This record gives sequence, structure tokens and C-alpha cells, in this order.
Amino acid sequence: MKADPSFVIEQLSAAYGPVVWSPRLEPIDELIFTVLTQHTSDLNAERAFQKMRGRYRSWEEVMAARPEELAEVIRTGGLANQKSVRIQQILFEIRAKAGGFDLRFLGLMPLPKAKAWLTALPGVGPKTAAVTLAFSLGMPAMPVDTHIYRVAGRLGLIRKKTSVDDAHDVLERMVPPGDVFRFHVLLIQHGRKTCRARSPLCGSCALSARCPARRSFKS
Ligand code: SF4
Repeated sequence: MKADPSFVIEQLSAAYGPVVWSPRLEPIDELIFTVLTQHTSDLNAERAFQKMRGRYRSWEEVMAARPEELAEVIRTGGLANQKSVRIQQILFEIRAKAGGFDLRFLGLMPLPKAKAWLTALPGVGPKTAAVTLAFSLGMPAMPVDTHIYRVAGRLGLIRKKTSVDDAHDVLERMVPPGDVFRFHVLLIQHGRKTCRARSPLCGSCALSARCPARRSFKS
């Protein structure tokens, strides 16, 4: 029998506990923070984000800073020269399109429209858009990171040829809107704690009875 999404949610909720959504940051903060997390750890991105918020009083000031200076401020976030330029491009576009930096209006849009608005910004892909909408506005968007992509592939929830970008919509459509957030959080937890990239802990995995990849691993 295959691992269907409701089985996955049920088993992983029992293994890792309930998932409760609460707003993390304002949408603009979540968006810029997520840009900072690209190709680095959340901890490094957090440090860079806090330094940036400590150095500049507003997003207007971040946008107007010299790119080299902004790069120095966010250095701990990695790829600082590229990210400083990208952040300023994004802020410039947002102000031009929305007249300011308040993105809460996205929460009033249908999900596909809100995603399209964000992914039209420079360097904002499906994952960054989905993180922003899910974590700051509670919208039923499914961010797919490396853990989720790996776990979903092993479980046969997505086909081998499904790209990471396509996996966002495929996985999002698999569960009712009210379950998308916990589906996301539970799959990440499972990827970090049990279905690790190397040496997954299949012997103690709550999904092993229905996992097609189980026989590929010895543990
Ligand atoms: S059985 Fe192994 S490969 Fe399958 S989901 Fe569990 S840990 Fe991952």
C-alpha cells in the first residue's frame, strides 16, 4: 500500500506532535529574510537579518544604502554581494508596484494571484513566495525545500521527473488547504530527524510500512 498524504500527516503528527501556525514576521520581513536564507543556514540568515534591521531604520533606508555597504552589513548571510543587490531590486520593485512595503494586501488575493505577484519580483522563486505567504499570512502555500523534496520523492508522493519548482504545486494540491501548513512542517521535521539525506533511520520510521524506498536502505 502506498503512503498517501493523509497517512503521512496522521503518522508524522503522532511522531512529532501537533503543528500550530502563528504569524512569524510581517510579510515584507519574511520575504527579505527568506532571500537571506538562500544558500545558507537559517542561523546565518537570522544574524544577517538582525544586523540589517539594527543598522537601518526602514526598508526605505535599506533600499537607498550603497550596495557595498549593505553587503558588509549582511556579510554573515553569505553571497552578500549578490544578495544586497537582489534585496534592493526587490524593495525597489515592491515600492514601485505597491506604493510602499506593506504586503498584507497579498492575504486578500486568491493564492495563485498572490504567488504570481511575488514570483514576478526579481529573484523570487516558488519557494520564497510560498514561505512568505504561508508563514506571514497563513495562506495554504506549500514551500518545498531540499528535505521535503527528498522525503516526498522517497515516499513516491512525487514522480522522479517532477522538478523542485513543480513539486510546490503538486504537493500543495494533495491535501486540503487547512492541512498544507502542517504537511509542510511535518515533512521538514521528518527529513531533518529521520529520513535524512544520508543514512535515513528507516528502522524507526513511522512511514516505513508504506515507503517504496524502504528496501533501498539497510538501517
Ligand atoms: S522508510 Fe526510510 S526512506 Fe522511507 S520515509 Fe522512512 S526514513 Fe525515509
